[in-house]
Amino acid sequence: METNYETIVGLEIHVQILTHSKAFSMDGNSFANQANANAGVITLAHPGTLPKMNIDHLHKAVLLGMAFGSNISKKHFFDRKHYFYPDLPKGYQITQDKMPYCTDGTIRFISEGIEKSIRIHHIHMEEDAGKSIHDQHASTLVDFNRAGVPLLEIVTEPDFRSGQEVSDFLAELRKTVQYLGISDGNMEEGSFRCDCNVSVRKKGVQTLGERNEIKNVNSRRFAKNAIDYEAKRQIAIIENGGIIQKTTLLYDPVLNETRSMRKKESENDYRYFPEPDLPPVLIDEIFLKKIAQKLVALPIDRYYKLVNDYKLSSADAIFLTEEKAWTELYFLLASHSDQYKLIAELLVQKILPYLNLIKKEISIFKDPLLLLRFVELLQNGKIAKSAAYQHVFPVWIDDISQNPEDIAQNLELIQSDNQDFLDAIIAQVIIANQDKVTAYKKGKTGLLGFFMGQVMQISGGKADPNTLKSKMEAALGK
Ligand code: ADP
Ligand code: MG
Repeated sequence: METNYETIVGLEIHVQILTHSKAFSMDGNSFANQANANAGVITLAHPGTLPKMNIDHLHKAVLLGMAFGSNISKKHFFDRKHYFYPDLPKGYQITQDKMPYCTDGTIRFISEGIEKSIRIHHIHMEEDAGKSIHDQHASTLVDFNRAGVPLLEIVTEPDFRSGQEVSDFLAELRKTVQYLGISDGNMEEGSFRCDCNVSVRKKGVQTLGERNEIKNVNSRRFAKNAIDYEAKRQIAIIENGGIIQKTTLLYDPVLNETRSMRKKESENDYRYFPEPDLPPVLIDEIFLKKIAQKLVALPIDRYYKLVNDYKLSSADAIFLTEEKAWTELYFLLASHSDQYKLIAELLVQKILPYLNLIKKEISIFKDPLLLLRFVELLQNGKIAKSAAYQHVFPVWIDDISQNPEDIAQNLELIQSDNQDFLDAIIAQVIIANQDKVTAYKKGKTGLLGFFMGQVMQISGGKADPNTLKSKMEAALGK
């Protein structure tokens, strides 16, 4: 029954922007251990205080819009969105309603191996509300540190077709805002929150079904689970002859279910009107040119470069694009050596996991080109790759200015050109495994790998695999 339906999702994503101060005041926009440490008179809405726009908020807003090829309005303004809540002392939030600074554009990402592209409806600038804390005291406590923190809200068209797509999209968006330096993008720590609008429709139907909105989802996994659950629930209702009523929902990750929060209020309830305390924002070409200089190649563009130009696997390319600095390190190394696959292998399997383990950044390598020395060792065939990774790497990584070949020499791992020493080991292995030799001769030729492995082990990785293979086959009588 579910297979006759299509899931439709549109997202509203709030991104916390990295700035020195808040959106409309000089209060610090930084993590504070103490509640209400970043709450001055403007944040607390004392009478007579006036907001002032933060130019850095605007810079970063425009940069994000440009990265998605969006249309940046040359003139836009702020609105007041009214609602009553203890953590909103002004009684309204400053946002953009009628004329957001940015419309249209697309976000591209890879989902299950295929490129998907999502249309952006618009992006607007706004401020965050404070936080009500219900579980630390008999009464509710309010912390205004978050009140007035600069946000961008990205509203997409209803272009997603599954929870998995939403999860992959959020991963791409996280990378993108980090590459652009506009947010730390950490969803679990709240710098990224997303409302998921979900509806279903019978396949082939063109019009959209009624939707429900799941509020404040704060992890990729929760987004996927909440959407999958909600789509199933709606299909069951429709199949039983019911109709979907537009509702605001909360996702409960413990029970993995959505619950009704309130019937969705109509837009008029917010009594939007233009913010009289802030002038309209006017943007000219010079400003746009200045911001455009800060654009960088997006993660998906770097992904394609890794896959198409350097012929890396999709998995390695996705891994390397996790961090901007990682792709930059790869491109630097690949511009000095044509061992594209070996460079990726060394980074993905060894260097980056090692840095992760010791909790250090790649900047600890003062001269990153020295990493190529290890690539050379892997490539020149003087030592088996497994021995290089297992025995040389742990010694070398402590100080990469060492010559890895010297380390291999000291550990007596270098394969000599003369491989005659193998003959004695091969004879020894054959004597010790007579039953397997018989089986091999009867046709179980897959045992060759076993024999080679034994010799390799006894030789301490010094056997050259090709020489070993021909000698082994000869000794077994093939
Ligand atoms: P509102 O302002 O009332 O929240 P919008 O029309 O601006 O409504 O849409 C908000 C979000 O809901 C957008 O991300 C949009 O793509 C999504 N959306 C709208 N209609 C549907 C639908 N029928 N199914 C899924 N998502 C939808
Ligand atoms: Mg909405």
